[in-house]
Amino acid sequence: MQFGRSKITPDIDLTAQGKEIGCLRIPHSVHRSAYGWLPMPAVSIRHGDGPRVLITAGNHGDEYEGQIAVSRLARELQHDEIHGHLLLLPMSNFPAAKAGRRTSLIDEGNLNRSFPGDPEGTPTSMIAHMIEEELLPHFDLLIDLHSGGSSLYYLHATQVLLQPDGRINPVEKILANAYGAPFNHVMREEGSNHSAEAARRQGALLLCSEFGGAGTVTPETLRICEHGLRRALHAFNLIEHLPDYIDAPTSPRYLEIKGQAHYVYAPEDGLYEPLVTLGDEVSAGDVAAAIHFPESPAQEPVLTYFTGEGVVVCKRIPTQCQRGDCLFHLASEWPG
Ligand SMILES: [Zn+2]
Repeated sequence: MQFGRSKITPDIDLTAQGKEIGCLRIPHSVHRSAYGWLPMPAVSIRHGDGPRVLITAGNHGDEYEGQIAVSRLARELQHDEIHGHLLLLPMSNFPAAKAGRRTSLIDEGNLNRSFPGDPEGTPTSMIAHMIEEELLPHFDLLIDLHSGGSSLYYLHATQVLLQPDGRINPVEKILANAYGAPFNHVMREEGSNHSAEAARRQGALLLCSEFGGAGTVTPETLRICEHGLRRALHAFNLIEHLPDYIDAPTSPRYLEIKGQAHYVYAPEDGLYEPLVTLGDEVSAGDVAAAIHFPESPAQEPVLTYFTGEGVVVCKRIPTQCQRGDCLFHLASEWPG
């Protein structure tokens, strides 16, 4: 596996059998370090022939469940437990993950809005290019682990992308069921600059996730994230045996992520009072939140309403809001 146009260089041999632990060096020439590089952690585990899986976490740096789960997998999984190739990138937008921020402090880059990237671009753009053009062509499956980050909280869900024919890829469905999160979201499309579309462009299968968020992790979230990851890799025939401690999967409820009518945004700057909770089933016209104005205490709160129907799967965490902030989004029953 030789990199082409990318200026990022692995300091480990991605073709070697066994477990290689090191980093991908992102060149970064700045005032304090003229010839320096940024160390994106990478663990390559190879054993014989078999499926090839790339797992990325820390695409958004303030989403921690995947970063912990992937690091644990990197430590615990031995090369003779797998057949194939597993490449783990626990902090895929390294500068963002290092800072605990959604976007990179170096270039303000949002990795999941940066594909297909640019080998001559900013660090975030270079990372996007390397993942799409240098790595994905060598992998059968991308698992990209997300959560709600600092500003949102999600009911735990895996996510799959509909194929152009309007169906779910049968292998991705097997993987989502094996992951066994409480929900599986079916997405009609992601933006072309997302990792999901990068995987599709490169012919790789895809499984994404949204597990919790709020800038923290919980034992329950990590259990779902970690156990599901093992089960999905087992279902994909990369891991031969599951450890005894891995739970049985739950059967995910399939929900469809629809368009903008299923999102609620703050209509004013103020303090947002949620009037629904995660998991509630709502209809168009139901009240969603009240925006309060403590600087003008005599002013009545402004109510905001749902314009679509479905399950409240995501909510904003900080109470302070500005006009345009996403407060909730819904997912609807998947008929397929
Ligand atoms: Zn994310």
